[in-house]
Amino acid sequence: MTTTYEEIAKDLAALKSPPNMPDYEALRASFSWDTVRAELDLPNGVVNLAHECVDRHAARNPAKTAMIWEGANGSVETYTFEDMRRESAKFASVLASLGVQRGERVFFLMDRVPELYFAVFGTLRRGAVICPLFSAFGPDPIAERINRAEGCVVVTSPALYPKIEAVRARTPSVRQVVVIGDRAGRRGPEGATLDYATLMAGAPEAPLEPTANEDWSVIHFTSGTTGLPKGGSHVHGAVLGHYATGKYVQDLQPGDVYWCTADPGWVTGTSYGMFAPWSNGVTSLIYEGGFSSAKWFELIQRHRVTVWYTAPTAIRLLMKAGLDIPRRFDLSSLRYTMSVGEPLNPEGVVWGLEAFGLPFHDNWWQTETGSIMIANYPALPIRPGSMGKPFPGVHPGIIDDHYREVTEPDVEGQLAVRVPWPSMMRAYWNDQERYDSRFKDDPDGGPRWYITGDRARRDADGYFWFVGRDDDVINTAGHLVGPFEVESVLIEHPAVAEAGVIGKPDPVAMEVVKAFVALNDGYAWSDQLRRELIGHARARLGPGVAPREIDCLDHLPKTRSGKIMRRLLKARELGLPEGDTSTLEED
Ligand code: AMP
Repeated sequence: MTTTYEEIAKDLAALKSPPNMPDYEALRASFSWDTVRAELDLPNGVVNLAHECVDRHAARNPAKTAMIWEGANGSVETYTFEDMRRESAKFASVLASLGVQRGERVFFLMDRVPELYFAVFGTLRRGAVICPLFSAFGPDPIAERINRAEGCVVVTSPALYPKIEAVRARTPSVRQVVVIGDRAGRRGPEGATLDYATLMAGAPEAPLEPTANEDWSVIHFTSGTTGLPKGGSHVHGAVLGHYATGKYVQDLQPGDVYWCTADPGWVTGTSYGMFAPWSNGVTSLIYEGGFSSAKWFELIQRHRVTVWYTAPTAIRLLMKAGLDIPRRFDLSSLRYTMSVGEPLNPEGVVWGLEAFGLPFHDNWWQTETGSIMIANYPALPIRPGSMGKPFPGVHPGIIDDHYREVTEPDVEGQLAVRVPWPSMMRAYWNDQERYDSRFKDDPDGGPRWYITGDRARRDADGYFWFVGRDDDVINTAGHLVGPFEVESVLIEHPAVAEAGVIGKPDPVAMEVVKAFVALNDGYAWSDQLRRELIGHARARLGPGVAPREIDCLDHLPKTRSGKIMRRLLKARELGLPEGDTSTLEED
């Protein structure tokens, strides 16, 4: 059965269009990043994402559609590469007039509207650094991130502005807030904010800042087990990774209409919602609205989407909604579909085949790697449930606890990647110690390892299989949540003495955030207190981060040194063996 559908899938892909990488092994053997560099247009050694994604296509093919935008209300707008160039060049001069210098950080708390993309490329063109925020964050994660990277400007929308207003007093580095008015005519409050349209009206087009390979471009905050989020910091030279993986993993071709469903507040929404398609000069669909099974298929039909990049949580929701829905639409334009962000179960891979005749190709990467590292490719048979094989030009491996590569097949270990590669993060912003801790020497003398924090195994044919996280970070609907951030907010509530936060398995979102609390003297557990704590956490953290469930315990299991044993909380929650409890504090 497996072979049959692998063959069908391969044949279908082959029928619709020959892939950019017809032979995986051949490209892996001959791959060189210098060849990729030569395909990009790097004028006088200048490397700038805005040039690679916008200007060079505007110069060659100005009238080509770069963006098809569909608003939540169904209205459609299209923008050419020349439109993108002009608007981003104007925004770069707006930033210059606001005194934003090269290397300064501009934060974005935005929904998906065309102006967001103009402003992002305007910021990159200015040589300033973009820092995306997730629009479902509450005030605490927003303030924490702005302060960590000392943001000087925030770009937001009228609907999201109240979240910025709420943290204005505790984000002293922010000099201006620019509000992009919405299509209903709403603007930001005068005096407190600057209006995007007014600023842009008279703005001249700014030239491109001559940034180089190692200049900062993007900071994406990501969560860890301990401490507050880390600012994974990337450079303009990362575009080599976006471009090459867009070409060979996503198989982007000139006639494609590409759709990435990821939110621009997370790394997939920038690396693959903006940089990969546009560095390949491909038309990209941007949909302002959120998930809806029927609407999503209607979008594919209406805009003749050919290449689709989505996530397992969305696929599971589509599966739940049933096969009748996709069958109502003409999805014949699709030629290639992919998934990222969480493990994609084999059922999800096969479901694509049933729903529209194409399997989902899973691939793996993370904020720190900047671009896809392991993937299933059009030219290789999919192994359902596997993340695929290494991208040519990068060298992931399975390592043991001494950082030695495990060469035997099917042995579980830490997933690591040999350094360097072009899109690798170059820092955790202002946190050298945590950055350094992610790199280890190979005892056998090979290039150093970057430690991903995931566990995996590799089979005898070189396919990688995800096993789980090697830390306590929670993956809820493809978004990472750090338990420490949630625990810190819970213990600020007067009733809470201690808090421990875990990811509880969930059939749709993979994991949901679950908290355990122990109460201070004088407080009694009740449903009302549970609701109050959930409300407290939602108000502070936002619905994307706050716990969905909270239970109360007499006390939380701790090590003798006083650290809450989240692993034990999880094992007890799931009824699993408790493992090594020798460090558990005696009652
Ligand atoms: P982020 O840095 O937010 O992009 O999250 C990256 C993490 O998501 C990885 O370290 C994995 O834990 C998880 N992840 C991403 N893609 C996959 C995948 N294809 N299969 C399993 N886990 C994945």
